[in-house]
Amino acid sequence: MSEKRTEIGELGEFGLIDQLNSKIKIRHQETLKGIGDDAAVLDAGDKVKVITTDLLLEGVHFDLSYAPLHHLGFKAVAVNISDVAAMNAFPKQITVSIALSNRFSVEAVEALYAGINAAAEHYNVDVIGGDTTSSRSGLVISVTAIGEVEKGKEVYRSGAKVNDIICVTGDLGAALIGLQVLEREKEVFMADPNMKPQLDKYSYVTGRQLKPDARMDIIHELKELDVVPTAMMDVSDGLASELFHICKESNVGVMIYEDKLPIDKQTFDTAVEFNLDPITCVLNGGEDYELLFTISQDDFHKLEKHPDIHFIGHVTKADEGKFMVTKSETAVQLKAQGWVHF
Ligand SMILES: [Mg+2]
Repeated sequence: MSEKRTEIGELGEFGLIDQLNSKIKIRHQETLKGIGDDAAVLDAGDKVKVITTDLLLEGVHFDLSYAPLHHLGFKAVAVNISDVAAMNAFPKQITVSIALSNRFSVEAVEALYAGINAAAEHYNVDVIGGDTTSSRSGLVISVTAIGEVEKGKEVYRSGAKVNDIICVTGDLGAALIGLQVLEREKEVFMADPNMKPQLDKYSYVTGRQLKPDARMDIIHELKELDVVPTAMMDVSDGLASELFHICKESNVGVMIYEDKLPIDKQTFDTAVEFNLDPITCVLNGGEDYELLFTISQDDFHKLEKHPDIHFIGHVTKADEGKFMVTKSETAVQLKAQGWVHF
C-alpha cells in the first residue's frame, strides 16, 4: 500500500505553515506569541523581546548574476529588521548563519559580510553569533533578529478595529518591477555578453529590489508622535496578501481606495513598459518592506501631515468583506495572491 502524498503546492506556503503550527505546543508562559505574526514575542519583565528569522536561498530568493554580494548581505539583515519594525519594536542584536560552496572566494565572503556589517551599523544592531557551514549547491543565508519594546507597546496583526484607518508607508510595487528589469537585462546579457545592461533609467526600482531599507525611521517617528498602531505588519508578500492576514487575525474586513495607493512614477512607467497593470503590481508585488498598519481615528491628526504615510482606506466589519474602490468608483473584491515559492 502506498503512503498518502500531498503536494506542498496544494496547501500553499501559508496552508503549510498553518498545518505545522497546529501541532506546536507552547510550554512557557514567557512565550507571549509564537508562530503567526511578523515575530515571536517573549515576556522580559517591563519589556518584551521580539525574535524573527528568515532564510534566503540562492536561486529562490536571490540571483547572484545581478545581486551584488554587498547588497545581498545588507538585504538579508534588512528583511529581518523589517519584521522587528512590524512589531513596533527596536532591533538590538542579530545572528548570521551562512552555508557556502568552494565556488566562493574569501573576497566574496568578505563582500557579503561588508554588507551585513553596513546593515548592522545602519540599524544599530550587534552581530552576536551564527554558524558557517558548507553547501553543495548554492549560497544560503539565515539571519535572526532580536528586538525589544516596552511591554504593551508591541503591535500584533490582530488588533485592527472597525473604523480604524489603514496606513501604508513609502510606495509599493517597485521591488517587483525592479526584479522584472533585472531579469530582462540578465536575459539580454546571456544572449549577448557584449551588451551593456541599460539600468540607469531604472535605478529606483532596481535599488528597491536589490537593497531594501526596513522602515525603522517610521517606528522611531511613531514613538515620538506617541502613536501606537492597532495592528501592523510589513509588506513582504504584497499589500493584498498582507491585508488578508490583518483581516484574518483581527476578524475584520477592509475597504481601500485605488486612488490612494502609493506608487512611484518610475514604477508606474516601467510597469506599463512591461505590459503589467501598475495597480496589480502595487497590490501583489512582493518585497517592498514598507509598513502596513491601522490606527485609531483619534490618532489621525498626529500623522495627517506625514509626507511618507499614506491613508489608503478603513477597517470594516468582517462580514462586509475585503474591497477596493476603483478610480471609476466600483467596489471590487480583493484577492490575495501572495508569493508561491513552491
Ligand atoms: Mg513580515
